[in-house]
Amino acid sequence: MARPPAPLQDSIKSFIRTVPDYPHEGILFRDITGLLENAHGLRLAVDSLAERYAGKGIDLVAGIEARGFIFGTAVAYKLGVGFIPIRKAGKLPGEVVGVDYQLEYGTDRMEMHADAVSQGDDVLLVDDLIATGGTASAAVELIRGVGGTVVEACFVIDLPELGGTDRLRALHCDCFTLCEFEGA
Ligand code: AMP
Repeated sequence: MARPPAPLQDSIKSFIRTVPDYPHEGILFRDITGLLENAHGLRLAVDSLAERYAGKGIDLVAGIEARGFIFGTAVAYKLGVGFIPIRKAGKLPGEVVGVDYQLEYGTDRMEMHADAVSQGDDVLLVDDLIATGGTASAAVELIRGVGGTVVEACFVIDLPELGGTDRLRALHCDCFTLCEFEGA
């Protein structure tokens, strides 16, 4: 599992607030709005993700709704490539491909425009946070389903105790995360 040097991890973490019992009791919500609001923090996060992939032949960046759009679009802009939104069901107007995935209670569905990725495209997947990895695994399945290659999945925050990056690794998808927090 790739991570940046410790001082950079600490710097990113210093902008992230933990909100207990949000949106449900027992959840420690990792709030990235402080990172986004701060010019240095925002630049540090976007540059640290983009620098890893510069010159690596990325064709497209895919971001997961909603906070993956914020970082994903900025990274795509920096890499000089296009951005694909992976959205909740029913939000995209064109022909879509979709995948159902498991939530703690019940299932959800995510979709992508069917023509957004071409056979053989090298795609970088971006989201703000990986917890159980259910969301990111579904996104990997979507991209691979239309013939794309997921070069790596990257996140600002990892919650390693929830096993998400292990789950992606089991799918042969490498991960890069800027920082990690203990606990769920
Ligand atoms: P998972 O599918 O369990 O890996 O959950 C990842 C998705 O849920 C990401 O899109 C996150 O934005 C969101 N998420 C899950 N847990 C948290 C948390 N503790 N704090 C903030 N966002 C979370």
